[in-house]
Amino acid sequence: MIFEHATVLTMNEDREIIEDGAVAIQGNKIAAVGKSRELNEDYPNEQPINCNGNVLMPGLIDSHVHLAQAMIRGCADDLGLLDWLIKRVWVLQGSYTEEDGAASAALCALEMIKSGTTSFIECMLAEAYGFDGAAETIVKSGMRAALGKIVMDTPSYAQAENVMHPGMVEDGDTSVNNTLAMYDKWEGAGEGRIQVWFGARTPGGVTPELYDRISALAKERDMGLTVHISEVREDLDYAEGQGFRSPVEFCQAHGLLGPRSVLAHCVWTDEADFKLLAETGTHVTHNPASNAKTATGIAPINGMLESGVNVSYGCDGGPSNNTYDMIRDMRMVSYLANLREQDPTVVPAETVLEMATINGAKAMGLDEEIGSIEVGKKADFIIIDMDKPHLTPAPDPASTIVYAAHGSDVDTVVIDGKIVMQGREVKTLDETSIIAEARWRFPEVIKREGVDIRPRWPVV
Ligand SMILES: [Zn+2]
Repeated sequence: MIFEHATVLTMNEDREIIEDGAVAIQGNKIAAVGKSRELNEDYPNEQPINCNGNVLMPGLIDSHVHLAQAMIRGCADDLGLLDWLIKRVWVLQGSYTEEDGAASAALCALEMIKSGTTSFIECMLAEAYGFDGAAETIVKSGMRAALGKIVMDTPSYAQAENVMHPGMVEDGDTSVNNTLAMYDKWEGAGEGRIQVWFGARTPGGVTPELYDRISALAKERDMGLTVHISEVREDLDYAEGQGFRSPVEFCQAHGLLGPRSVLAHCVWTDEADFKLLAETGTHVTHNPASNAKTATGIAPINGMLESGVNVSYGCDGGPSNNTYDMIRDMRMVSYLANLREQDPTVVPAETVLEMATINGAKAMGLDEEIGSIEVGKKADFIIIDMDKPHLTPAPDPASTIVYAAHGSDVDTVVIDGKIVMQGREVKTLDETSIIAEARWRFPEVIKREGVDIRPRWPVV
């Protein structure tokens, strides 16, 4: 397949933008990248797909996703974090059946594909609502993913009194053994598109002994590991209570830092933490919209980036964002970092695009395979329809996409050499039935737990 007449944002080492560019695919790999006329000469027998001057760029990589939370979108708006967790998110997610879990994963995957996400890291799938169902759905969707299986042994969050819904609770042995069983079953599934990771809960939800155990297992098997760290100021108190200067230093002591570790949030971190993260090659996934909505703080990503930490970003979940649209959150990455430093130059559009593509690929351990449009890499890319009033004029496609585009401007999605969406029609999943199923399951879920969610204004 050849895609021609595109503005190709390559994200290669020199960050070249090819005007009237073309990309040729052979199997699941990129076979050639160049000017349209050159590729037409090299492949005279191919019938090219005309991109009409639209932008072709690497698929977006969301490094922090909760698949199970898509179906509880909008169920915890305008609440403080503890009410948000205890009264809504844990209760509703904890009451999920396996079928609910699979339906939410399908809804989430559909939304991600329709807004240009081709790969993602799921941070903590629980056994109760079915790892298998979510994994099957993602294989079917054609997406590339690292699926984190929840690891925990304490049903709380930092403070012992904040007890979780029983449907969310797993004991230490079960959660570790299930992770290893899921690894044996799903690692490399979907022609190599699926990885299985440890999706450990926040310190306070996992004992230090269990972190020691999983970090050793992860190293032994070269598995990825992701954990929420320093999301809220109270996380500093927990680390201090354990005898550490910071949560990042707690992580270091328990083997949680390293090139296969992705720490989510890291809002409450400082220079000493950045140094440690950079030295150990630990990745950070920033979650700008989620942190802003739950008002937990602005992560110091400028300092991290300047210290050489690999920072990507993610959409987090349905109740905290409330969408899984990476393009919608692009401007937030730049705005929040610039506001924090009171300097509009610190995180420009180009940095945001790097975080959304090549830095996400590094976090997944896949930067040799995805994250840029280069010969030999996997064919994971998207085409953004620039023929829109809100994208006109577009003197610099990088800044136009970051500051003005919407996820719904994505027209075509190619993953692993296969067209997963074309003309906004998803080929791998049945959009109508997925939306219909989520619509009927949602009231069942909230009814099961007696949670009442309705407009706060009078409905007449
Ligand atoms: Zn999260």
